[in-house]
Amino acid sequence: MHCTRKHGYNDAMPSTTSTDQRPLEYRIERSNRKTIELRFLDANTLLIKTPMRTSQARINEVLQLKAAWIAKTRKLKAEVWPVPKMLDREPILFLGEWHRLQIINTNGKKPDTQTPGIIKISPALAAKGTATLVQLYRDTMRELSHHYADIYTKRWNLSHNGIRISGARTRWGSCGPNNSLNFSWRLAMAPLLSIENVVAHELAHTVYRNHRAEFWKLLKKMMPRYEEGQAWLKQNAHRLPVFPD
Ligand SMILES: [Zn+2]
Repeated sequence: MHCTRKHGYNDAMPSTTSTDQRPLEYRIERSNRKTIELRFLDANTLLIKTPMRTSQARINEVLQLKAAWIAKTRKLKAEVWPVPKMLDREPILFLGEWHRLQIINTNGKKPDTQTPGIIKISPALAAKGTATLVQLYRDTMRELSHHYADIYTKRWNLSHNGIRISGARTRWGSCGPNNSLNFSWRLAMAPLLSIENVVAHELAHTVYRNHRAEFWKLLKKMMPRYEEGQAWLKQNAHRLPVFPD
């Protein structure tokens, strides 16, 4: 994943827990296909795509054969990254990379992200809890959304009606009826490529207010690697720690 802040700090990845013990739910979808495909919709729902006339016995057989894969994948899907407690040396997700939190005596009013892989904050900022992190994410998203919006509006002769940063939990961005753009500060946990993808996506909505083929064609032209940015979000959105504004 493209990210200018990649410095191999993956050892800081927090341990994850899978507490959900609900039974796995199976959903069978029959269609004109030749093979059986298994796909998790979420940690508790397995979609089984089968040819029209596949017997239940055959489906059971496939589930047996794939039992190890199903267990492993389900565990992975259930991983959720914990909400930071703002403790010294704690891993913090910032621009798609795990950073170490360092609490040191400074007069800095804002977190210092100048050192690769490290976020430095004062004890006073640590005492404010995740509000400090929200401020960092908010400032970062304000800066980056303008940065990318400027690039794309100039290059594609587009325009927007201002940018707002919100705490939205279910959508990364939106484009209002008067072309005002909205981005969630939660996006600052994602890599730069994902952030760029969402900004380009919302700007493409100033041209097409739909998700039809014409829209995706334009987005692909604007940002040929947009799918790479989208992939990280699809893969990790459900794992992001959720904390209030
Ligand atoms: Zn859209």
